[in-house]
This record gives sequence, structure tokens and C-alpha cells, in this order.
Amino acid sequence: MLIEYFLTRYMHRYTSRLVTAAEERAPIEPGMATRDTAAVPMLYVHIPFCKELCPFCTFFRIPFDEQLARRYFRALRRQLNRYHDLGYQFSTVYFGGGTPTVLPDELALTIDEVRRLWPIQECSVETNPSDLTPSNIELLKTCGVNRLSVGVQSFQDNLLESVNRIRKYGTGADIQHRLSQIRGIFDTLNVDLIFGLEGQTHADVIADLGIVKQLGIDQVTCYPLMKSGGGRQSFDGWRREVAWKKQAYRLIRDTIEPEYVPSSAWCFSKNRGMIDEYIVEHSSYAGAGAGAFGLEGGTLAVNVFSVEKYIEAAENNADAAAFRHPFDSGENLRYLLLMQLFGGGIDFDGLCRGQTPLCKFFVRTSVALLRLAGAAVKKSGRITVAKRGAYYTVLLMKLFFEGVGDLRGFCLDAHASGTNLDTARPRA
Ligand code: SF4
Repeated sequence: MLIEYFLTRYMHRYTSRLVTAAEERAPIEPGMATRDTAAVPMLYVHIPFCKELCPFCTFFRIPFDEQLARRYFRALRRQLNRYHDLGYQFSTVYFGGGTPTVLPDELALTIDEVRRLWPIQECSVETNPSDLTPSNIELLKTCGVNRLSVGVQSFQDNLLESVNRIRKYGTGADIQHRLSQIRGIFDTLNVDLIFGLEGQTHADVIADLGIVKQLGIDQVTCYPLMKSGGGRQSFDGWRREVAWKKQAYRLIRDTIEPEYVPSSAWCFSKNRGMIDEYIVEHSSYAGAGAGAFGLEGGTLAVNVFSVEKYIEAAENNADAAAFRHPFDSGENLRYLLLMQLFGGGIDFDGLCRGQTPLCKFFVRTSVALLRLAGAAVKKSGRITVAKRGAYYTVLLMKLFFEGVGDLRGFCLDAHASGTNLDTARPRA
């Protein structure tokens, strides 16, 4: 429990700097506008509309409105053309949300536009179970979608009911039926499951994984419930939650392996070489869409958290970033180390390349501590994350995403109160 406590404090300190950066709204420095766009291989596109808003979700999402969504998709396509003019050369695209398939015809037009602009090799799309209709699947296949990720969350009706998902996204049995119809159509069919929902038992977690295995799903992501907004929790409550999730993670690994192998700390694939979550595979990516995040050459770019403002920026052929925060070398190194840990292995030489002696010392010490704690092992010259370390990585990633959720919350509050985050002002 001491390690968990230390990691929690450490990550809170790290991620709270993101909110501080947004508060300070550092000016866009000369050189940032002329960033090396050609070196960014991956494009993340955010579609914020959902037919039902789930109470546990910390992503930027808003209720579906068809007219507004159609204007939004048109604006997105304008912005993509702008990215092309700026010299981006993407080879991978990831549509996340929200629900990217909320308007399948508009999504198809947007994927076609991306493919017209760039030689895309991998296209991933997130969706919800109710959108797995034969016509949608055919459309996505025709557009060349390689990886389809379905937000199932759980197959247990009592849990789906408790998070308002049955009415719009179907019962556990409906979801199983829909998934069974689309096996083998995409290179990777991924299912997202959540652990840590109110009322969920360890038996529920195991039962969900049993269904995944029985359906022969290619890949499953088991991520812990995340909270943001900083509601205070008693120490006892925190300790109980950590102990429950630790045991749940152990059970997940015991149930899913060896049939599935970890491709990250919380993603398990039937075969090696399947397409994984983009943040694992890419340390540099551009974000398009309202509320999208990008990380380009060590600079975090956060787009406006307003669909209307995003459309306005696109109509004026303008930058939609609300603010940019250049990571300092320490922040960048910690981010890269975290992503490598999450991906299951540390490229020691790669991390140290071009770094200051202090940064190299940080990497060396971190790796030594991880090995000492039994969280990482050295195998044939490569440092890999051990099972024990994977659990700590899940905790770190959860805390990281919660920090990003806090940043989203700050941006949304700022927008609601009329504060212009996109008006750069000098640091105090
Ligand atoms: S979990 Fe998925 S469907 Fe639910 S609000 Fe979040 S993005 Fe929308």
C-alpha cells in the first residue's frame, strides 16, 4: 500500500502541472508555429457526440444533435485539409470519442477524406454496441477500417443498467449477439471493459472475460474506472478501492493469460502484432476536433472544448488549439518513461539519447529502482515490465488519465465561464 500511496502522490504532482500550464496559458513561442509537422505520423480525431452520456465517463462528450454533428464533421474535414497544407504526413489515424459512428455517413466521408489526403496504413475507430449494425459494419469495412474498438464496459445487465447504458446500447445478451456477428471482419476487433464500477464484483470481472474468450474477440482492454474532478475520498475508502482493484487486476491476468498476451499493461491480444492503442505505439501525434489532445515534438496541444468554437475556427481556417504547453525535458522524459512502462518494455538507450547527464541519471535510477522492487527485469539485454510492475503501471496510467480529466474539467469550466483559453498571456 505504501508504493501505491507514493505513486499516487507522485502522479498528482506531475499531472497538476498540466492544469497549472492551462491556467498560465503560456504564449505560443516563436518556433512552435513552425513545428516539424512532417515528423508526426499519427492523427487523432475526436468526435464528441454520444446518444447517452454515461456517468462514469471522463472524456469530452456532449449529447448528440444531428444538425450540429453534421456541421462539426464538415468543419473537421476543413481542418484536415488545413493540416495537409501545414505539411503533416500521417500514416495512421484513430477516431475516438464520444462516439465516432454516431453519424456513419459523415464518418465515412471523413475517413475517405483522410485517405485522399494521406497514404493511411492503419485506421482505428471506436464505436458503441448499438452501432454494430450490418450496414454500418459494411460501410466501415469499405472505408478500410482496420481496428474496431467497441465500448462494451460490461456484459452484466445490472451494471449496464446502473450506468444508464442498456436503453441506448443494449443488454449484455444483445451485445454478445452483435459481437458474434462481426468476428473476423476487421484485422483487430477490440472490446473495452471496465473494472471498479460501483457494485461490480470480482466474479463479474471474471465472467466478462469468460464471454470475451468464448466469443473469440481478438483483443480486450480492461481499464480501471477513472475519476476526475477531485472529490475528496477518505483514506480508508482509498485503501479499500486500491486493494479491490489490485485483486481485480491479478484476476484479469490469471483469467486472460496465456490465451491472450499483454500488448500493454491493460490491453491483451490473441495474437502478437495486432494494432494497439495509439499512445503506446506513437510518442508524437496531432489532435483534430473539439477537446482533442495532441503531442507534437514534446509540446502538448489542447484544442478548444466547444463544438461551436471549433466550427468557427475551421470556418476561418484558423488554429483550433486552446493552448499549447511545451514539456520541459524532465516532463517529457517522465511521459516517455510512463508510456514505455505501459507498453511493457523500456528502451534504455533510446530514452537516454541526447539527454542531459541529470536526465540520464533519472532514467538509470528509475530503472534500478524498478528492478530492485521486482517491477522490471532484464531479459536478453532488454528491460521488460514484470507482472508486478504491470499493476503499478496500470495505477500510474489511471492517475495520468485522471490528471488529463482534471485538465479537461478545467478547460470546460473556463469555457462555461466565458474565459478565453485561446488568448495567450505571458507567464507571471
Ligand atoms: S463511455 Fe462512451 S458512450 Fe458513454 S459517454 Fe463516454 S464516450 Fe459516450
